[in-house]
Amino acid sequence: MNTARDHLIDWLRDAYAMEIQAEKMMQNMHGRLRQYPALATRLEQHIAETKSQAEQVKQCLHQLGADTSALKTGLAALTGFAQAMSGAIAEDEVVKGGVFSHAFEQFEVANYTVLVAAATAAGEPGIAATMDAIRREEEAMAGWLRDNLEAIVQQYLLTGEKR
Ligand code: MG
Ligand code: FE
Repeated sequence: MNTARDHLIDWLRDAYAMEIQAEKMMQNMHGRLRQYPALATRLEQHIAETKSQAEQVKQCLHQLGADTSALKTGLAALTGFAQAMSGAIAEDEVVKGGVFSHAFEQFEVANYTVLVAAATAAGEPGIAATMDAIRREEEAMAGWLRDNLEAIVQQYLLTGEKR
């Protein structure tokens, strides 16, 4: 039977893949934004946070003595939904991207909630604290998107600016 520690290591590996994919998706979205400076600025901030999150997750794996030489960096750990949406480029991509990004941040919140519980069960309070701090960053990004989607939609409908 797998121990809590084994699961913690597996789920940290999944979280690493999730963060690498998150960075790629946000860089992609950021590169296509011109007329939405507030969104672009918030994305820049969260891209920086995301890079740090990936490093922190890797450090937690090191701390647990796990091998980090073959970490997944693709979509393998993500849902088909994420896979389908991340490649989508529609005329209303800023709106679609906003919806997807909000959902993705909630996906991250749920994953870090699992990791807080797993780290606690594995007797790793330091890792649990790190996972909780990352979860707060994901919650803040999800909240920002929720609070700004209306303005993004209004601007899109008013100006028809795609990017
Ligand atoms: Mg993240
Ligand atoms: Fe995030």
